Amino acid sequence: MARAVTPVATRVARVYGGAVGVLLTAARRAGFPRLPGPASTIGLLAGAHVLALTFWLGPIGVVASAAAGSIAAAAIAWRVRSRPLDRYERAIAVQVFGDADWLDDVRLTSISVQNGRAFAFPGADGHTYLNLGRKGFAAPLDGNRLYPAIGQILVHELVHAWQIAHAPSLAAFLSHAADVQIRNELGDQVYRIGEDPVVWADCNLEQQATAVDRWYAGRRSATNRQMDPDGTDAATITAALHRNL
Ligand SMILES: [Zn+2]
Repeated sequence: MARAVTPVATRVARVYGGAVGVLLTAARRAGFPRLPGPASTIGLLAGAHVLALTFWLGPIGVVASAAAGSIAAAAIAWRVRSRPLDRYERAIAVQVFGDADWLDDVRLTSISVQNGRAFAFPGADGHTYLNLGRKGFAAPLDGNRLYPAIGQILVHELVHAWQIAHAPSLAAFLSHAADVQIRNELGDQVYRIGEDPVVWADCNLEQQATAVDRWYAGRRSATNRQMDPDGTDAATITAALHRNL
């Protein structure tokens, strides 16, 4: 069943992700950077989705979508917290990625999705939001079941921020990201990197992030050393991440 729907579902996801990317790029050019914070992005996306369903109503549809966007933005502004990296988080980030400009654009938020999984998203305001959920936002460096090392999940999400900063466009990033997420929902093991050294260009977005967070945590090292220079993917990762710094 999954096999039959996968090609159609991934094609739809890629188009959808690309469209959201085009919308966010247009918003960045249209002055959304003057509305910093996650609320403007959520409001924009909520409004655009309602408009996509109601545009045939003409002015009523436009009013409905503006109302939906405003309500969503107000709800987010009221409930969601966000902040830049603090100095400890930034110190970890600099160890992995170098002292890169794009780290200044990173914002952590308490936004979460249904299963509590963290996710990264480019904002209409030019920031990159790492959405960690309420618990993750309160203690972003804490280990959890899937990312046991201190700072490991932050490093994983920062790889996505790096991908956003280095993607040819937001549309290209979100198209690829939507494709990977839908495959994940359909049961593909999109995070799996196996035992052999990774080939960076052949990795999907999650495999790149997984390779880096495992290397960071010492899970790709014969001696369990964190960021082991002799680790399985050390040369590949440092070559990839230090590009365009
Ligand atoms: Zn990820």
